[in-house]
Amino acid sequence: MLSDLGPARQARPTGGLPVMSLLVENLQAVGARIAAAAQRSGRTAADVTLVAVTKSIAAGTIRPLAAAGCLDFGESRPQELWSKAESLADLPIRWHFIGHLQRNRVEGTLAVATRIHSVDGLRLLAAIDAAAAALNRRVSVLLEINISGDSAKHGFMPAEMPQRVREAAAYSHVQIRGLMGMAGIMGGIERARRDFRALREVRDQLRGLNVAGLTLDELSMGMSDDFEVAVEEGATIVRVGSALFAGVGP
Ligand SMILES: *Cc1c(COP(=O)(O)O)cnc(C)c1O
Repeated sequence: MLSDLGPARQARPTGGLPVMSLLVENLQAVGARIAAAAQRSGRTAADVTLVAVTKSIAAGTIRPLAAAGCLDFGESRPQELWSKAESLADLPIRWHFIGHLQRNRVEGTLAVATRIHSVDGLRLLAAIDAAAAALNRRVSVLLEINISGDSAKHGFMPAEMPQRVREAAAYSHVQIRGLMGMAGIMGGIERARRDFRALREVRDQLRGLNVAGLTLDELSMGMSDDFEVAVEEGATIVRVGSALFAGVGP
């Protein structure tokens, strides 16, 4: 397994290993599906960023994917993010944090993450703003919306958003770039499409409020089972794990 190789071997291109060709094949297949879906929505592949979700994937398996040109990676657990970011610090990777973030993990997460997709409350936003101020930085974030209404999911409710974005815009060390959401578990692909369309409509509605300091260009939505409909409905970022790592193992 690649993850058993020493650091010197890991740092070199892994051309020729079956896992490399599998990853490249998966990456190309996902990329082609994104491009086709983008075209159906009147856009191009360049309008959609693929974030490769690496939860349960070893750092050594991430290297060949980075070598193949995929440099946006997503993690949903702070500790895993921190340790992978450290192991892969020699690569120009952009780390996206996509999971539930506790306030006591904010500082360590900001130290390595390019963007936090999953801001699910104003107290978390305030903690991010304070930590970013201490670092003299402005941090790019997305607000997570519980679009499916599933009580097990985190996120703001759509109806509270007009009020919340006005409050959120007061924090000067965060840059609110858009919204993130997940489709409901039940209801299949057509349910997913409805949820994604609803997220886009919430975004459009909020954009129409013209709140100063708010840029809501990004829509982070779509995972392995539903990224094509997400792109058709306007996703600018898809977060894909299992479809990229199919057949590869950890
Ligand atoms: C795991 C995860 C993904 C990727 O899921 P796959 O079905 O493996 O593509 C995307 N977004 C979030 C928030 C996740 O936790």
